Amino acid sequence: MPPDVDQLIDTLAGLLRDFGRHSFDLERVEARKTQTLFDQWAQHLLTGIEAPGQAPAGGPRQHAALRAGFVAHRKQEQTEFTQSRDALRDVVWMFVSSVNREVVAERTEDATLSRSLSALGTTLQTAGTGDLRRLALEAVKQVHDVLDARRARQRKHVAELGERLEALGSQLEVARRDSTIDALTQLYNRRAFDEQLGRAAELAALREGGAALLMIDLDHFKQINDTRGHPCGDAVLKAVAHALVRVFKRRSDFLARFGGEELVALVRDVTPAEALTLGERAREAVASLTVGAEGGPVRVTVSCGVASWALGESGADWLARADAALYRAKAAGRNRVAT
Ligand code: GH3
Ligand code: MG
Ligand code: MG
Repeated sequence: MPPDVDQLIDTLAGLLRDFGRHSFDLERVEARKTQTLFDQWAQHLLTGIEAPGQAPAGGPRQHAALRAGFVAHRKQEQTEFTQSRDALRDVVWMFVSSVNREVVAERTEDATLSRSLSALGTTLQTAGTGDLRRLALEAVKQVHDVLDARRARQRKHVAELGERLEALGSQLEVARRDSTIDALTQLYNRRAFDEQLGRAAELAALREGGAALLMIDLDHFKQINDTRGHPCGDAVLKAVAHALVRVFKRRSDFLARFGGEELVALVRDVTPAEALTLGERAREAVASLTVGAEGGPVRVTVSCGVASWALGESGADWLARADAALYRAKAAGRNRVAT
């Protein structure tokens, strides 16, 4: 039976569409873009419209280019998936082995301590007063030694784990999915931020670089809405978000809309002084902004509260400190940065 070419093409086009629809975010290509790309390929096969990145419409079908593009995409997926899986596997095993070594070491130390304490107890009952001081000091020293060794070991484990997490890099970050993006500003939304905040606090505990949280609130924004109208307010918010993206531009920076006219930035590998400088840069970036709008240009300023992560602090406490700092910046007259 001769192959039904039309049916084969339909099937292939359908496969391409399905492939695009079920693609996932890659380092450099968002799933949405992949979907569009494969939709275009499907269209090209079916109707002969211009193939993505190829010669104008009307030419022959670009089968070789389609195949090459498909394979390149698949290879990229394979590479990234394998790398992520291996890095994740490494971290998990490293964690398991750290916990394991710690449990074994503690068990041995506890047994040693327990033995020498009961020996001490027995000796104390019969010892003369002269020996009491010496024996007690010996016991104190032994406990100290054990605790010091334990602390050093734990620090080493934490540092090792931190290094492995480093290797995972941006794969640990929230994926840029539609459900995590704020429609107006195109920044991460509150939901994504809430998720990221807890993680950032936990990561900060494992890493040496330091992390900071900046809360940025537009000054007298209500006035802009009241005098220039809500659409103008929206345009200002968008422009501010845009300006801040250029300040918080590192891959590891996380910028989100916290709510209303309040934005938040999570940054890492910054000293408290550097975090303050970033806050100042954000303030300046907005202060030097002129937003074009119907009825004339609009200027706006922001106040910024900066909180560097403090050892042992939870995400909620960290946020509360950034919020308190923002309040101080407002109280001090707005268009300023406070800690
Ligand atoms: P302050 O300097 O104390 O922060 O003054 P403010 O006017 O900015 O603060 P307030 O909390 O009184 O008002 C915030 C305003 O932000 C009120 C609300 O209408 C406006 N707002 C919140 N979300 C949006 C939005 O998505 N679009 C627009 N246009 N306005 C918004
Ligand atoms: Mg405000
Ligand atoms: Mg506000």
